[in-house]
Amino acid sequence: SETGAQPKLNEFPRISLGLLPTPMHRLDNISRILGTNVWIKRDDLTGIGLGGNKVRKLEFLLADAKNKGAEVVFTTGGAQSNHAMLTAACAARLGMQTILLLKKRGVTEHRGNLVLDDIYGAQVRLVDTDDYQDIYREMDRLSGELAAQGHKCYPIPVGGSTALGAVGYVHCVEEMAAQLPQGVEMGHIVSATGSGGTTAGLLLGAARCLPGAKATGLGGGFFFCFV
Ligand SMILES: *Cc1c(COP(=O)(O)O)cnc(C)c1O
Repeated sequence: SETGAQPKLNEFPRISLGLLPTPMHRLDNISRILGTNVWIKRDDLTGIGLGGNKVRKLEFLLADAKNKGAEVVFTTGGAQSNHAMLTAACAARLGMQTILLLKKRGVTEHRGNLVLDDIYGAQVRLVDTDDYQDIYREMDRLSGELAAQGHKCYPIPVGGSTALGAVGYVHCVEEMAAQLPQGVEMGHIVSATGSGGTTAGLLLGAARCLPGAKATGLGGGFFFCFV
């Protein structure tokens, strides 16, 4: 708003991790078939690890971690969590140690993102529970132990979906608005939803700088296939 009531986006400390802006282009065939203009924002190409949406959140979350003097970053997710893998990649780049407490859920094979977590130097602990509350309790206990040894820890909840993480997607809408050619209006932004931070950021971003656009998250489960 012009009144200055909202915090300014550039007031949140940020560390550049992604190769931004990511491309945005029109899908000509789908647009023809559906009889409307469909564009795609290529956030699979954020340029670190295997890319993906978590990088934008981590630019703010890890800046906050650094500013608070954290050396160890904790996060969680499923065993094949993209968020966990990208946290490990981004934290390694910034010289921070990552500890991943991942839901075990019957996992026996060491493959996919679990291999990448190792390559990025993360310490992985598979926790045999279906309840994130158990994992957050374990995170608290471990950070307490590390704090007693003089190490400052920074916990990131599942998906990096905190208010601060969502700021990454407020920025993404700003980026998309700048990429739209003159005369093209965005009517609808559709994204996949898991932990909800991406959609939250897109909703806020649309309200701020593309007021004509509606944002919708489609979710209830997403899968990352790694063969
Ligand atoms: C995390 C993730 C999502 C969902 O994003 P949220 O911010 O957790 O809702 C969608 N697609 C992929 C590939 C993801 O890794």
